[in-house]
Amino acid sequence: MEVKLLDLVPQHRKIETEVMEAVRSVFETQQFILGDTVRSFEQGMQRYHQVEHALGTASGSDAILISLMALGIGEGDEVITTPYTFFSTVSSIVRTGASPVFVDIDPETYNMDTSLLEEAVTDRTGAVIAVHLFGQSADMEPLMELASEREIPVIEDACQSIGAMYRGMKCGTIGDAGCLSFFPSKNLGGAGDGGMILTGNEELAGRIRALRVHGEVERYRHKYIGINSRLDALQAAVLDVKLKYLEEWNRARRDNASRYTAAFSGIEGIMPPVVRDENESIFNQYVVRVERRDEMRDHLSSCGIGTAVYYPVPLHLQECFGYLGWEQGSLPEAELAAEQTLALPVYPELPRKKQEYVIEKIEEFLR
Ligand SMILES: *Cc1c(COP(=O)(O)O)cnc(C)c1O
Repeated sequence: MEVKLLDLVPQHRKIETEVMEAVRSVFETQQFILGDTVRSFEQGMQRYHQVEHALGTASGSDAILISLMALGIGEGDEVITTPYTFFSTVSSIVRTGASPVFVDIDPETYNMDTSLLEEAVTDRTGAVIAVHLFGQSADMEPLMELASEREIPVIEDACQSIGAMYRGMKCGTIGDAGCLSFFPSKNLGGAGDGGMILTGNEELAGRIRALRVHGEVERYRHKYIGINSRLDALQAAVLDVKLKYLEEWNRARRDNASRYTAAFSGIEGIMPPVVRDENESIFNQYVVRVERRDEMRDHLSSCGIGTAVYYPVPLHLQECFGYLGWEQGSLPEAELAAEQTLALPVYPELPRKKQEYVIEKIEEFLR
């Protein structure tokens, strides 16, 4: 049997007619950059998140970069974040001229350990980027409390957590700006790259809106040195169709996750993901922890089962960030997680038989 980590084809089959019709209508208008199609999707996302502003960008990475730029982060600033995330959380910080400051992770949720946050704050701290990894919100209450006390803006990297809830709030709507990604493997994935920034702050929204079009406030009047980063109308058309199904797909992922967790709870040697009571995860990834991770991965691979390691090298140990001087052993939980975690297939349309096969092969390996 072959089980892919992620198979997008069955999902496409179900909505193919609608998607192709939406794409066709964009071609009819020939309005490819911003315009009504993008606005309509942005409004759909505003309603879905109950937030004032939703602004499309060319990618999730750009959403983070533009958010930092809009907050005025630059040289001399420090931005606190986690080392256990996708590369661009941190590269975006560096691109502004600021320095990333890493806080180790909670070994159960893999999100930033907020009890370590306070000691990372200095008078140069310009922002905190909270990452909601694998579909589960970071521990936002203590983070927001500290941030508001110290008047530090908070950016949420909600790229993996579109639709996830924290204490009744949607991820991406808790901090000053929330960044989303529509990379095809995310829960709301486009037909290419795309991203979005959510914010309830009018002034910030104005700067973001200008920054994504070269800093223009009127045609050929540049108030800021912005960049070119817009959500394509073609992507917006596809995403607008898919948004209707997002809750259903998130639910299906959660059901798959519960089935795994129920099965793994009785097996020695494997730690299923921990979802905190205040959270509702959307399981962008279902990540287990096993000591002999690489061996298990090889075993599953030989059985035709696709898995992935997110992430094998924490960012503080990446070659390109070597100049920052973070050494092996400095962030032990992130380093251990990088050695022990493995993502299993959890996509919404994963057939029951295939999931049972994955469980069976894991049991077989651990026995
Ligand atoms: C996917 C992702 C991004 C970047 O999104 P792109 O749209 O691929 O640029 C940023 N942060 C995290 C945590 C992600 O998972």
